[in-house]
Amino acid sequence: MEFKKSQELYNKGLENLVGSVNSPVRAFASVGGNPLFIKKAKGSKITDVDGNSYIDLVLSYGPMILGHRHKKVQKAITKALKNGYSFGASTKNEIKLAKIVCDAFPGMDKVRFVNSGTEAVLSGIRLARAFTGKDKIIKFSGCYHGHQDALLVAAGSGLATLSLPGSKGVPEGAVKNTLIANYNDLDSVKAHFEAHDDIAGVILEPVAGNMGVVTPTNNLLKELKEYVNAKGALLIVDEVMTGFRSKFGGAQELFDVEADITCLGKVIGGGFPVGAYGARNEIMEMVAPLGGMYQAGTLSGNPIAMAAGISTLTTLNKQNPYERFNEVAATIETYLIEAAREHGVEITVNRFGSMINPFFTSKTVTNFEEAQSSDTQKFATFFWEMMHNGVFLPPSQFEAWFLSSALSEKDLEKIKKAINAAMEKVAAS
Ligand SMILES: *Cc1c(COP(=O)(O)O)cnc(C)c1O
Repeated sequence: MEFKKSQELYNKGLENLVGSVNSPVRAFASVGGNPLFIKKAKGSKITDVDGNSYIDLVLSYGPMILGHRHKKVQKAITKALKNGYSFGASTKNEIKLAKIVCDAFPGMDKVRFVNSGTEAVLSGIRLARAFTGKDKIIKFSGCYHGHQDALLVAAGSGLATLSLPGSKGVPEGAVKNTLIANYNDLDSVKAHFEAHDDIAGVILEPVAGNMGVVTPTNNLLKELKEYVNAKGALLIVDEVMTGFRSKFGGAQELFDVEADITCLGKVIGGGFPVGAYGARNEIMEMVAPLGGMYQAGTLSGNPIAMAAGISTLTTLNKQNPYERFNEVAATIETYLIEAAREHGVEITVNRFGSMINPFFTSKTVTNFEEAQSSDTQKFATFFWEMMHNGVFLPPSQFEAWFLSSALSEKDLEKIKKAINAAMEKVAAS
């Protein structure tokens, strides 16, 4: 397999792009080598500029749940394009997508569309502060909520509890109201509430997917909701990754819990830049123009993006692929475990619906600290052998692999072979 053209473009891109990528997760920093340049994608497959074709388990980090260029979505976008690209005024399709979203999430009476998951979460946080009149926010170590200052707090276990900024350029003042708790550890949340009386809300990924897949203990969401509300604070559920992916109604449907504020992104735009936040009327009425919390967007509710969202969600709801996702993920888990056993490699596989990944560790992984016990060198070896066998994975131990409904039985066979080859390589490394 050759990466000559990707290599050339990478080198060319370095001149005017930062690291030749527009998001650092696309860099191959932790696996070595240079990032791929993609030419096109269709269904379950993605093709790079050298003509190499891969089964795509990155799926643009989640959005492409139907696979690439689903014909219903393509038709809807093409139709929308004929009417114009952006108006700075409302369109009928915004109402239509809002209805689909609010029907899927019973805790949302109203929704506001934005342009990314980051924007959805930063607005959701502002809303929690506006509604409660309090300032502090609790987040969990290892959960990612986009790149806004307040939530870019060091996710590394020890320092994390000190609320040190995790990025240069984030002033201490921006994170002084951010408190860190341990995932799957309600007591660590309670300790903060005992120490502070000005906590506006707790935010979490209901299934963590940004430290690799880390699943919540059975009652985490329910217990949090009850406890947090009893303390006069709000539960903000960041379903940017899990919304329409864990279930049509997100992890909240699965765990039968209604968030106070829900944040959405990724799947909701079907590959176009859409984010959303929503809540019950009483909370959403804080948002301008109804209330005093300001949040705006020149391109928010963009007509092409709305068309992509509507057609993606309508198709997804009809397909109802969630049972099959569980089966496919279970199959891939079996491939991983059997190959690891055969080659004597220690792994732990975590999965939840259509999110799955192996950690190269013998420990169970229930939080960020345990995730970090993984051997990232082994992952790098595994990653490259998967690539050479035609499977495109996220270039990091700490990213979830995503499944699309376009995956075929033939694709699964290919994934199985690739996993066997990759485990063999890891064992030999
Ligand atoms: C991806 C992600 C975000 C950020 O969304 P962007 O569209 O990249 O800004 C926020 N929260 C979670 C849980 C995510 O997975």
